[in-house]
Amino acid sequence: MIKILNINVDDVRFPTSNDLTGSDAVHTDPDYSATYVTIHTSDSNLRGFGIAFTIGKGNDIVAECVRNYIPLFIGLSLNEVEKNIGKLWFDCVDHSQLRWLGPEKGVVHMAVAAIFNAFWDLISRQNKKPLWKFVVESDPETIMSWLTFKHIEDVMTKDDAYEILLENQKFKEERINLILKEGYPSYTTAAGWLGYSNEKIIDLCKQYMEKGWKHFKIKVGLNLEQDVKRLEIIRNTIGNDCFIMVDANQLWDVEQSIKHINAYKKFNLLFVEEPTSPDDILGFKKIKEAVGDINLATGEACGGRVMFKQFLESGAMNVCQIDSCRLGSINEILTVLLMAHKFKVPVFPHAGGVGLCEYVQHLCMIDYILINGEKDNKVVEYQDSLHEHFKYPCNIQNGNYMPPLDHGYSIEMKKESVNRYLFPKGEYWAKLN
Ligand SMILES: [Mg+2]
Repeated sequence: MIKILNINVDDVRFPTSNDLTGSDAVHTDPDYSATYVTIHTSDSNLRGFGIAFTIGKGNDIVAECVRNYIPLFIGLSLNEVEKNIGKLWFDCVDHSQLRWLGPEKGVVHMAVAAIFNAFWDLISRQNKKPLWKFVVESDPETIMSWLTFKHIEDVMTKDDAYEILLENQKFKEERINLILKEGYPSYTTAAGWLGYSNEKIIDLCKQYMEKGWKHFKIKVGLNLEQDVKRLEIIRNTIGNDCFIMVDANQLWDVEQSIKHINAYKKFNLLFVEEPTSPDDILGFKKIKEAVGDINLATGEACGGRVMFKQFLESGAMNVCQIDSCRLGSINEILTVLLMAHKFKVPVFPHAGGVGLCEYVQHLCMIDYILINGEKDNKVVEYQDSLHEHFKYPCNIQNGNYMPPLDHGYSIEMKKESVNRYLFPKGEYWAKLN
């Protein structure tokens, strides 16, 4: 019987602020970081790896929070963990003391995400499948046992969810075969970071078009005239057959959002992301009512399923951008995918950050095969940085994520990368101090 022996957590930070990769209107100098969890078992060949994504300072706080949950798992058998993962998840998010720091949001929820991302990696490795395949090949009763419907049953009952899972079973094989052949379409954010010059953006747009991308996301927000100019340059570079979306990263209030979005209308945007506070559901609704047919996207900063419930039910969210490290891992992500499907809102998972592309590739496959059956009008974020640190990096062909085939959830980092970028004692950071 395989047992959980030990869980350790590392604070790994990559110095991306050096070249402004990841810079936007609000996060001007991110160092893409991972709270990196490793689960050790009594089988020395079987470990699980998981992360929460942060952007530098505070990564140590998430790591410290993870340590509070570790005693709950030590000594359990892996079979017990797999069988009871729904209950274990709920025990963590509903922990009688730690829940005060959330509940189910912020640092505590990210810590839960990191741990359960590692457990899902471990479980799918144990079952010798990539995570997406393990999930879609599990039977609907088992999947239901992973999920919690607390506080969302007014919009989605267990029966609703079960029904969706059941209905889609008959298409599973056909969809798996198609996705293995075609992959899942992506959009790139890599051309439009706010810190980049116009020349660099034009150059990058051309490079990505040559590689097969048709969807480009650009950071906006600080200066309306400059943003309009940038959008003009990009539209002229990529032409009318390609798509532009913009991301304001929560910069504006409601009135400013309406003004900016109306000024961008002529560029025929696919969506506008996070115009205002990610918590302001009613504010989003007001913006939507004022800008008409422009789609509003949000979700990367939504703490949990209850927030998604309100955004989806109110019509304030037109594109649902789940985050693999902010939601509480697969246990909660599946409930949000199911709710989005019920409200007919497309899911475009968020992936700007380290390791998030490695994660979202599994999530879009699960959404397509298990729940939604649609992929032609949907795109998942892709960003071309830091993949070299992963043992099983995502594989993009002609702008499509190809399904990962290695066992697990694709997030194990190379040992030398962890050693070099460990904060503050890894060789990169130690040299600076
Ligand atoms: Mg964003």
